[in-house]
Amino acid sequence: MSALVKNYNRRRIAFKKGKGSFLYSTTGKKYLDFVQGIAVNSLGHSNSKLIKAIQKQSKKVWHVSNAFVIPEGERLAYRLKSKTFADNVIFQNSGAEATEAAIKIARRYFYSLGKPNKNRILCVKNSFHGRTLATIFASGSKKMTEGFGPRVNGFDHFDFGNHKSLKKKISKNTAAIMVEPVMGEGGIKVIPHWCLKELRKICNKKKILLILDEVQCGVGRSGKFFAFEYANVKPDIVPIAKGIGGGFPIGAVLMTKKVASCMVPGSHGSTFGGNPLAMSVGNAVLDQIFKKGFLKNIQKISKYFHKELIKIKNDYPKIIKDVRGLGLLIGLKLFNNQTNFIKKLENNKLLTIKAAENVVRILPPLNVSKIEVDLAIKIIRRVCKQTKV
Ligand SMILES: *Cc1c(COP(=O)(O)O)cnc(C)c1O
Repeated sequence: MSALVKNYNRRRIAFKKGKGSFLYSTTGKKYLDFVQGIAVNSLGHSNSKLIKAIQKQSKKVWHVSNAFVIPEGERLAYRLKSKTFADNVIFQNSGAEATEAAIKIARRYFYSLGKPNKNRILCVKNSFHGRTLATIFASGSKKMTEGFGPRVNGFDHFDFGNHKSLKKKISKNTAAIMVEPVMGEGGIKVIPHWCLKELRKICNKKKILLILDEVQCGVGRSGKFFAFEYANVKPDIVPIAKGIGGGFPIGAVLMTKKVASCMVPGSHGSTFGGNPLAMSVGNAVLDQIFKKGFLKNIQKISKYFHKELIKIKNDYPKIIKDVRGLGLLIGLKLFNNQTNFIKKLENNKLLTIKAAENVVRILPPLNVSKIEVDLAIKIIRRVCKQTKV
Protein backbone atom coordinates (compact mmCIF):
# COMPACT_ATOMS: atom_id res chain seq x y z
CA MET A 1 0.00 0.00 0.00
CA SER A 2 1.25 3.44 -0.91
CA ALA A 3 1.97 5.87 1.92
CA LEU A 4 1.05 8.74 -0.37
CA VAL A 5 -2.20 10.62 0.05
CA LYS A 6 -4.72 9.56 -2.57
CA ASN A 7 -5.19 12.96 -4.18
CA TYR A 8 -4.27 11.45 -7.55
CA ASN A 9 -5.70 8.64 -9.60
CA ARG A 10 -2.28 7.41 -10.66
CA ARG A 11 -1.76 5.19 -13.68
CA ARG A 12 -0.02 1.93 -12.65
CA ILE A 13 3.17 2.66 -14.49
CA ALA A 14 6.59 3.91 -13.37
CA PHE A 15 9.73 4.81 -15.29
CA LYS A 16 13.39 4.07 -14.80
CA LYS A 17 14.72 6.52 -17.37
CA GLY A 18 13.87 8.94 -20.12
CA LYS A 19 15.66 10.14 -23.24
CA GLY A 20 14.33 12.88 -25.50
CA SER A 21 10.74 12.06 -26.46
CA PHE A 22 10.85 8.58 -24.91
CA LEU A 23 10.30 7.06 -21.46
CA TYR A 24 11.37 3.56 -20.40
CA SER A 25 9.18 1.82 -17.85
CA THR A 26 10.41 -0.24 -14.90
CA THR A 27 8.91 -3.27 -16.69
CA GLY A 28 11.07 -2.69 -19.78
CA LYS A 29 8.57 -1.01 -22.10
CA LYS A 30 9.40 2.00 -24.27
CA TYR A 31 6.84 4.79 -24.54
CA LEU A 32 6.60 7.84 -26.76
CA ASP A 33 6.02 10.47 -24.09
CA PHE A 34 3.69 13.21 -25.33
CA VAL A 35 2.89 14.33 -21.80
CA GLN A 36 6.42 15.50 -20.93
CA GLY A 37 5.47 16.15 -17.32
CA ILE A 38 2.51 18.25 -18.55
CA ALA A 39 4.31 20.66 -20.87
CA VAL A 40 7.23 20.93 -18.44
CA ASN A 41 10.09 19.09 -20.16
CA SER A 42 10.31 21.53 -23.03
CA LEU A 43 13.55 19.96 -24.31
CA GLY A 44 12.60 16.34 -23.60
CA HIS A 45 14.10 13.94 -21.06
CA SER A 46 17.80 13.87 -20.12
CA ASN A 47 18.75 16.76 -22.37
CA SER A 48 22.55 16.83 -22.46
CA LYS A 49 22.77 20.65 -22.35
CA LEU A 50 20.52 20.80 -19.27
CA ILE A 51 22.46 17.99 -17.59
CA LYS A 52 25.68 19.88 -18.20
CA ALA A 53 24.23 23.13 -16.82
CA ILE A 54 22.89 21.55 -13.64
CA GLN A 55 26.06 19.54 -13.04
CA LYS A 56 28.27 22.57 -13.52
CA GLN A 57 26.20 24.78 -11.20
CA SER A 58 25.75 22.03 -8.60
CA LYS A 59 29.50 22.02 -8.05
CA LYS A 60 29.57 25.79 -7.46
CA VAL A 61 26.63 26.90 -5.32
CA TRP A 62 23.01 25.70 -5.07
CA HIS A 63 21.31 28.18 -2.85
CA VAL A 64 22.17 31.42 -1.10
CA SER A 65 18.97 33.46 -0.38
CA ASN A 66 17.54 36.50 -2.07
CA ALA A 67 19.26 38.55 0.61
CA PHE A 68 22.21 38.45 -1.81
CA VAL A 69 22.75 39.24 -5.49
CA ILE A 70 22.33 36.10 -7.61
CA PRO A 71 24.17 36.63 -10.94
CA GLU A 72 22.51 33.64 -12.67
CA GLY A 73 19.07 35.12 -11.85
CA GLU A 74 20.14 38.60 -12.94
CA ARG A 75 21.12 37.09 -16.26
CA LEU A 76 17.88 35.10 -16.70
CA ALA A 77 15.76 38.17 -15.83
CA TYR A 78 17.75 40.34 -18.23
CA ARG A 79 17.33 37.83 -21.06
CA LEU A 80 13.56 37.60 -20.47
CA LYS A 81 13.40 41.39 -20.44
CA SER A 82 15.41 41.69 -23.66
CA LYS A 83 13.24 39.24 -25.59
CA THR A 84 9.74 40.10 -24.33
CA PHE A 85 7.32 42.90 -23.36
CA ALA A 86 8.64 42.78 -19.80
CA ASP A 87 10.80 45.31 -18.00
CA ASN A 88 11.05 43.41 -14.72
CA VAL A 89 10.86 39.85 -13.42
CA ILE A 90 10.29 38.16 -10.06
CA PHE A 91 11.18 34.48 -9.62
CA GLN A 92 9.07 31.82 -7.89
CA ASN A 93 9.08 28.02 -7.80
CA SER A 94 5.83 26.98 -9.47
CA GLY A 95 2.93 28.10 -11.62
CA ALA A 96 0.50 28.60 -8.75
CA GLU A 97 3.02 30.76 -6.92
CA ALA A 98 3.57 32.80 -10.06
CA THR A 99 -0.15 33.39 -10.70
CA GLU A 100 -0.72 34.17 -7.03
CA ALA A 101 2.15 36.67 -7.12
CA ALA A 102 0.57 38.17 -10.26
CA ILE A 103 -2.67 38.69 -8.31
CA LYS A 104 -0.75 40.27 -5.41
CA ILE A 105 1.11 42.61 -7.75
CA ALA A 106 -2.10 43.76 -9.50
CA ARG A 107 -3.67 44.61 -6.13
CA ARG A 108 -0.56 46.28 -4.83
CA TYR A 109 -0.35 48.40 -7.99
CA PHE A 110 -3.69 50.06 -7.32
CA TYR A 111 -2.91 50.28 -3.60
CA SER A 112 0.22 52.23 -4.51
CA LEU A 113 -1.95 54.61 -6.58
CA GLY A 114 -4.12 55.28 -3.52
CA LYS A 115 -6.93 53.01 -4.75
CA PRO A 116 -6.88 50.10 -2.27
CA ASN A 117 -10.48 49.15 -3.09
CA LYS A 118 -9.56 48.46 -6.69
CA ASN A 119 -8.59 44.89 -5.84
CA ARG A 120 -10.91 42.44 -7.63
CA ILE A 121 -9.67 40.12 -10.39
CA LEU A 122 -11.98 39.10 -13.21
CA CYS A 123 -11.36 35.53 -14.46
CA VAL A 124 -12.88 32.95 -16.79
CA LYS A 125 -15.24 30.49 -15.10
CA ASN A 126 -13.60 27.05 -14.84
CA SER A 127 -10.19 28.32 -15.80
CA PHE A 128 -7.01 27.01 -14.16
CA HIS A 129 -4.47 29.12 -12.33
CA GLY A 130 -3.09 26.66 -9.77
CA ARG A 131 -3.96 25.04 -6.45
CA THR A 132 -3.20 27.59 -3.73
CA LEU A 133 -6.19 28.93 -1.78
CA ALA A 134 -6.38 32.14 -3.80
CA THR A 135 -5.79 30.54 -7.20
CA ILE A 136 -8.48 27.83 -6.77
CA PHE A 137 -11.01 30.57 -6.07
CA ALA A 138 -9.64 32.49 -9.07
CA SER A 139 -10.54 29.46 -11.22
CA GLY A 140 -14.19 29.60 -10.19
CA SER A 141 -14.35 25.83 -10.40
CA LYS A 142 -16.73 24.05 -8.06
CA LYS A 143 -14.71 20.84 -8.14
CA MET A 144 -11.42 22.48 -7.14
CA THR A 145 -12.86 24.65 -4.35
CA GLU A 146 -15.18 22.06 -2.80
CA GLY A 147 -14.41 21.65 0.91
CA PHE A 148 -11.87 24.45 1.01
CA GLY A 149 -14.04 27.27 2.32
CA PRO A 150 -14.33 29.97 3.45
CA ARG A 151 -14.15 31.36 -0.05
CA VAL A 152 -11.18 33.60 -0.79
CA ASN A 153 -12.81 36.86 -1.79
CA GLY A 154 -11.79 39.15 -4.60
CA PHE A 155 -12.58 37.13 -7.74
CA ASP A 156 -15.37 37.57 -10.27
CA HIS A 157 -16.10 35.30 -13.21
CA PHE A 158 -17.46 35.32 -16.72
CA ASP A 159 -18.11 32.43 -19.08
CA PHE A 160 -15.55 31.74 -21.82
CA GLY A 161 -16.68 33.60 -24.94
CA ASN A 162 -19.44 35.60 -23.22
CA HIS A 163 -18.31 39.13 -24.01
CA LYS A 164 -21.48 40.75 -22.72
CA SER A 165 -21.07 39.17 -19.30
CA LEU A 166 -17.37 40.08 -19.27
CA LYS A 167 -18.14 43.77 -19.79
CA LYS A 168 -20.96 43.70 -17.23
CA LYS A 169 -18.72 42.14 -14.55
CA ILE A 170 -16.17 44.97 -14.67
CA SER A 171 -16.85 47.32 -11.76
CA LYS A 172 -15.03 50.26 -10.20
CA ASN A 173 -13.39 47.70 -7.90
CA THR A 174 -11.90 45.64 -10.72
CA ALA A 175 -8.10 45.75 -10.74
CA ALA A 176 -7.35 43.27 -13.51
CA ILE A 177 -8.63 40.73 -15.99
CA MET A 178 -6.70 37.44 -15.81
CA VAL A 179 -7.02 34.83 -18.58
CA GLU A 180 -5.02 31.99 -20.12
CA PRO A 181 -4.46 32.76 -23.84
CA VAL A 182 -4.89 29.01 -24.33
CA MET A 183 -6.90 27.29 -21.60
CA GLY A 184 -4.78 24.20 -20.87
CA GLU A 185 -6.55 22.19 -18.18
CA GLY A 186 -9.84 23.65 -19.40
CA GLY A 187 -9.64 21.72 -22.68
CA ILE A 188 -7.07 23.47 -24.93
CA LYS A 189 -9.42 26.29 -25.77
CA VAL A 190 -7.65 29.08 -27.64
CA ILE A 191 -8.82 32.63 -27.06
CA PRO A 192 -9.14 34.02 -30.61
CA HIS A 193 -6.53 36.67 -31.42
CA TRP A 194 -9.16 39.34 -32.01
CA CYS A 195 -10.59 38.62 -28.53
CA LEU A 196 -7.21 39.17 -26.88
CA LYS A 197 -6.93 42.45 -28.79
CA GLU A 198 -10.41 43.41 -27.59
CA LEU A 199 -9.47 42.50 -24.00
CA ARG A 200 -6.49 44.83 -24.22
CA LYS A 201 -8.73 47.63 -25.48
CA ILE A 202 -11.23 47.09 -22.65
CA CYS A 203 -8.44 47.14 -20.06
CA ASN A 204 -7.05 50.37 -21.53
CA LYS A 205 -10.47 51.99 -21.55
CA LYS A 206 -11.25 50.95 -17.96
CA LYS A 207 -7.67 51.64 -16.82
CA ILE A 208 -7.25 48.14 -15.42
CA LEU A 209 -4.45 45.58 -15.83
CA LEU A 210 -4.30 42.62 -18.21
CA ILE A 211 -2.78 39.48 -16.70
CA LEU A 212 -2.09 36.69 -19.21
CA ASP A 213 -1.39 33.35 -17.52
CA GLU A 214 1.18 31.69 -19.80
CA VAL A 215 2.20 29.03 -17.30
CA GLN A 216 1.24 26.29 -19.76
CA CYS A 217 1.13 27.96 -23.19
CA GLY A 218 4.25 30.14 -22.71
CA VAL A 219 7.99 29.71 -23.31
CA GLY A 220 7.74 28.47 -26.88
CA ARG A 221 4.95 25.93 -26.48
CA SER A 222 2.65 27.86 -28.86
CA GLY A 223 5.31 28.30 -31.54
CA LYS A 224 6.04 31.84 -30.41
CA PHE A 225 7.79 32.63 -27.14
CA PHE A 226 4.40 33.77 -25.79
CA ALA A 227 1.03 32.70 -27.20
CA PHE A 228 -0.27 36.28 -26.95
CA GLU A 229 2.33 37.40 -29.52
CA TYR A 230 0.07 35.96 -32.25
CA ALA A 231 -2.49 38.62 -31.27
CA ASN A 232 0.13 41.34 -31.11
CA VAL A 233 -1.02 42.58 -27.70
CA LYS A 234 1.05 43.85 -24.81
CA PRO A 235 -0.01 42.53 -21.39
CA ASP A 236 0.86 44.14 -18.05
CA ILE A 237 1.65 41.00 -16.07
CA VAL A 238 2.52 37.47 -17.27
CA PRO A 239 3.08 34.52 -14.93
CA ILE A 240 5.11 31.66 -16.43
CA ALA A 241 6.41 28.34 -15.05
CA LYS A 242 6.18 24.83 -16.55
CA GLY A 243 8.41 25.07 -19.66
CA ILE A 244 10.97 27.58 -18.41
CA GLY A 245 12.64 25.03 -16.10
CA GLY A 246 12.73 22.14 -18.59
CA GLY A 247 11.83 19.83 -15.67
CA PHE A 248 13.32 21.83 -12.83
CA PRO A 249 10.69 23.73 -10.78
CA ILE A 250 10.81 27.40 -11.74
CA GLY A 251 8.09 30.03 -11.76
CA ALA A 252 8.33 33.68 -12.71
CA VAL A 253 6.22 36.78 -13.10
CA LEU A 254 7.07 39.15 -15.93
CA MET A 255 5.72 42.71 -15.84
CA THR A 256 6.08 46.23 -17.15
CA LYS A 257 8.03 48.76 -15.11
CA LYS A 258 4.84 50.75 -14.51
CA VAL A 259 3.47 47.78 -12.58
CA ALA A 260 6.78 46.76 -11.00
CA SER A 261 7.19 50.16 -9.37
CA CYS A 262 4.58 49.21 -6.73
CA MET A 263 6.84 46.46 -5.37
CA VAL A 264 9.33 47.65 -2.75
CA PRO A 265 11.70 45.79 -0.41
CA GLY A 266 9.62 43.49 1.77
CA SER A 267 6.43 43.54 -0.33
CA HIS A 268 6.99 40.01 -1.66
CA GLY A 269 9.55 37.26 -1.31
CA SER A 270 10.44 33.60 -1.65
CA THR A 271 13.07 31.49 0.09
CA PHE A 272 13.77 29.20 -2.85
CA GLY A 273 12.61 31.41 -5.72
CA GLY A 274 15.40 32.29 -8.15
CA ASN A 275 18.15 30.23 -6.54
CA PRO A 276 21.40 29.70 -8.50
CA LEU A 277 20.66 26.07 -9.37
CA ALA A 278 17.22 26.85 -10.80
CA MET A 279 18.47 29.95 -12.62
CA SER A 280 21.31 28.06 -14.30
CA VAL A 281 18.85 25.51 -15.66
CA GLY A 282 16.50 28.31 -16.79
CA ASN A 283 19.35 29.94 -18.69
CA ALA A 284 20.24 26.64 -20.35
CA VAL A 285 16.59 26.22 -21.45
CA LEU A 286 16.59 29.71 -22.96
CA ASP A 287 19.90 28.99 -24.76
CA GLN A 288 17.95 26.42 -26.81
CA ILE A 289 14.63 28.24 -27.17
CA PHE A 290 16.28 31.50 -28.26
CA LYS A 291 18.41 29.66 -30.84
CA LYS A 292 17.76 30.91 -34.35
CA GLY A 293 15.02 28.91 -36.02
CA PHE A 294 13.92 27.01 -32.89
CA LEU A 295 10.48 28.66 -32.65
CA LYS A 296 10.01 28.60 -36.43
CA ASN A 297 10.62 24.87 -36.33
CA ILE A 298 7.91 24.43 -33.65
CA GLN A 299 5.51 26.30 -35.94
CA LYS A 300 6.47 24.10 -38.86
CA ILE A 301 6.25 20.73 -37.13
CA SER A 302 3.07 21.63 -35.25
CA LYS A 303 1.41 22.74 -38.46
CA TYR A 304 2.20 19.32 -39.92
CA PHE A 305 0.96 17.57 -36.75
CA HIS A 306 -2.34 19.51 -36.76
CA LYS A 307 -2.83 18.79 -40.47
CA GLU A 308 -2.31 15.05 -39.95
CA LEU A 309 -4.64 15.02 -36.93
CA ILE A 310 -7.35 16.75 -38.96
CA LYS A 311 -6.97 14.00 -41.58
CA ILE A 312 -7.59 11.41 -38.85
CA LYS A 313 -10.59 13.42 -37.62
CA ASN A 314 -12.00 13.45 -41.16
CA ASP A 315 -11.51 9.68 -41.40
CA TYR A 316 -13.14 9.11 -37.99
CA PRO A 317 -15.73 11.89 -37.71
CA LYS A 318 -17.74 9.95 -35.13
CA ILE A 319 -14.80 9.64 -32.73
CA ILE A 320 -12.92 12.93 -32.97
CA LYS A 321 -15.03 16.05 -32.72
CA ASP A 322 -12.33 18.69 -32.92
CA VAL A 323 -8.58 19.24 -33.20
CA ARG A 324 -7.63 22.23 -31.07
CA GLY A 325 -4.68 24.20 -29.86
CA LEU A 326 -1.74 26.33 -30.78
CA GLY A 327 1.70 25.01 -31.69
CA LEU A 328 2.63 21.94 -29.65
CA LEU A 329 -0.21 22.48 -27.16
CA ILE A 330 -2.67 20.17 -28.87
CA GLY A 331 -6.11 18.90 -27.91
CA LEU A 332 -8.14 16.13 -29.50
CA LYS A 333 -11.72 16.66 -28.46
CA LEU A 334 -13.63 13.38 -28.56
CA PHE A 335 -17.38 12.83 -28.68
CA ASN A 336 -17.18 10.47 -25.70
CA ASN A 337 -15.22 10.37 -22.47
CA GLN A 338 -11.54 10.25 -23.32
CA THR A 339 -10.27 7.98 -20.51
CA ASN A 340 -10.57 4.78 -22.52
CA PHE A 341 -8.96 6.33 -25.59
CA ILE A 342 -5.98 7.52 -23.52
CA LYS A 343 -5.64 4.02 -22.05
CA LYS A 344 -5.60 2.52 -25.55
CA LEU A 345 -2.96 5.01 -26.68
CA GLU A 346 -0.91 3.95 -23.67
CA ASN A 347 -1.34 0.28 -24.57
CA ASN A 348 0.05 1.24 -27.99
CA LYS A 349 3.01 2.97 -26.28
CA LEU A 350 1.92 6.59 -26.65
CA LEU A 351 1.48 8.64 -23.48
CA THR A 352 -1.02 11.51 -23.49
CA ILE A 353 -3.07 13.19 -20.77
CA LYS A 354 -6.62 14.37 -20.41
CA ALA A 355 -8.01 17.88 -20.16
CA ALA A 356 -11.58 19.03 -19.54
CA GLU A 357 -14.38 18.58 -22.11
CA ASN A 358 -13.39 15.07 -23.32
CA VAL A 359 -10.06 16.37 -24.57
CA VAL A 360 -6.93 14.24 -25.04
CA ARG A 361 -3.99 16.57 -24.48
CA ILE A 362 -0.90 16.03 -26.64
CA LEU A 363 2.27 17.73 -25.39
CA PRO A 364 5.44 16.65 -27.22
CA PRO A 365 8.78 18.16 -26.27
CA LEU A 366 9.44 21.33 -28.26
CA ASN A 367 12.37 19.68 -30.06
CA VAL A 368 10.27 16.71 -31.20
CA SER A 369 11.30 15.18 -34.55
CA LYS A 370 9.06 14.50 -37.55
CA ILE A 371 9.73 10.78 -37.18
CA GLU A 372 8.34 10.90 -33.64
CA VAL A 373 5.29 12.89 -34.73
CA ASP A 374 4.70 10.33 -37.49
CA LEU A 375 4.89 7.53 -34.93
CA ALA A 376 2.27 9.29 -32.77
CA ILE A 377 0.03 9.81 -35.81
CA LYS A 378 0.28 6.11 -36.64
CA ILE A 379 -0.66 5.10 -33.09
CA ILE A 380 -3.59 7.56 -32.89
CA ARG A 381 -4.90 6.28 -36.22
CA ARG A 382 -4.56 2.67 -35.05
CA VAL A 383 -6.49 3.42 -31.83
CA CYS A 384 -9.24 5.18 -33.81
CA LYS A 385 -9.49 2.06 -35.98
CA GLN A 386 -9.82 -0.12 -32.85
CA THR A 387 -12.44 2.15 -31.28
CA LYS A 388 -16.06 1.16 -31.79
CA VAL A 389 -18.58 3.93 -32.32
C1 LIG B 1 -0.15 24.29 -14.46
C2 LIG B 1 -0.76 25.65 -14.44
C3 LIG B 1 -0.73 26.45 -13.28
C4 LIG B 1 -0.20 25.94 -11.96
O1 LIG B 1 1.12 25.56 -12.01
P1 LIG B 1 1.75 24.65 -10.83
O2 LIG B 1 3.20 24.64 -11.15
O3 LIG B 1 1.08 23.32 -10.91
O4 LIG B 1 1.44 25.33 -9.54
C5 LIG B 1 -1.23 27.73 -13.38
N1 LIG B 1 -1.76 28.20 -14.53
C6 LIG B 1 -1.82 27.46 -15.64
C7 LIG B 1 -2.39 28.04 -16.89
C8 LIG B 1 -1.36 26.14 -15.64
O5 LIG B 1 -1.45 25.39 -16.73
